[in-house]
Amino acid sequence: LPKDHAEVPISQADAPPVDTFAVQPRGKGRSAKLWKPKHVYFTAGAWEEAHGRRIAERLDALGLNYEVMKANRLPKLGGSTTRETYQKAKNTLAIVNAPPSTMKLTPIPPSADWQFHLAKGCPAHCQYCYLAGSLSGAPVTRAYANLDQILENNANFIDPNKQLTSFEASCYTDPLGIEHLTGSLSRTISWFGTQPDARLRWVTKYDDVSALLDLHHNGQTRCRISLNADWVTRRLEGGTADLEARLQAMRKLGQAGYHVGAVLAPLMPFDNWQDDYTDLLQRLREALDFEVDLTFELITHRFTPGSKQILLDWYPNTALDFDEDKRSKKLNKFGSHKFVYQKEQMKELKGWFTEEVEARFPEAEVLYFT
Ligand code: SF4
Repeated sequence: LPKDHAEVPISQADAPPVDTFAVQPRGKGRSAKLWKPKHVYFTAGAWEEAHGRRIAERLDALGLNYEVMKANRLPKLGGSTTRETYQKAKNTLAIVNAPPSTMKLTPIPPSADWQFHLAKGCPAHCQYCYLAGSLSGAPVTRAYANLDQILENNANFIDPNKQLTSFEASCYTDPLGIEHLTGSLSRTISWFGTQPDARLRWVTKYDDVSALLDLHHNGQTRCRISLNADWVTRRLEGGTADLEARLQAMRKLGQAGYHVGAVLAPLMPFDNWQDDYTDLLQRLREALDFEVDLTFELITHRFTPGSKQILLDWYPNTALDFDEDKRSKKLNKFGSHKFVYQKEQMKELKGWFTEEVEARFPEAEVLYFT
């Protein structure tokens, strides 16, 4: 990846706040800007839900306008190009009910026993976004209003034969990125606090954890922060908190008694990657200078042919390296494939990260490298 590749903002109107290569100071950090969508819609069904009304109260308090639809349909976005549709979608929040099909939870190895969803979509602008290949259609953020039903349904999936059943809440969204609008994450953490046999896991690139610090989580939640080298964060993760702000958020969560986790992803071997990742690990060690239950998840960058096409439509000037010739094809059980780093590169990354993490964090558990 070229070091001098200039990032191009999404558009003048909708440009994410990260738009420069200027070296950020290590001091206080730059918090993510709270997302204020330009368009907010409630479906008729969502408007009937108690949590839908709670969301409406939050929107009122923030001075955001919204429209309640007469049916359970959303208006068409109507962009004339993929980029225009993308920009409109990223400025749109829809409050809808999670469909009945989502009540049949599916496993999500190696992260957790089950995945469930508080929302689908995310306001940030990561140029490698995991959602590009897994969610279809324009990237509107849909937050679920039938949260009470979603949480009650989770109880059906707690395995009485296991000491702990784990639930992942961030497969299709960054729940902290929309927390100021929905309150869904706080409510979910509090619910898991009443479930001694269940464990909640979620992950974020945002940093406003203030609403979470006084919740009765009872140690049933692991809050994970997605971290990457400054090089990656500044160029490829528009709209998110900078590295220092995320580290400080993680520190606050650990001090509030949460289990915490560092999700180092997506790992990329850019020029001199060892230097930047050493800096990241060192700063994480400084931020967590107290006893805390800590895990690591190590995830290398990968893409599918489909996600590559979508991401290049969304971010045509990306600095991300999508060169398939430098990758290996990895088949999945459904017959499709993704592109991962080549065997030797993977071996080098795995060896380096495992060794460096273990040397600095002997108390932590590395859950997986992939
Ligand atoms: Fe996608 Fe996660 Fe970035 Fe949101 S924070 S844009 S879900 S990669």
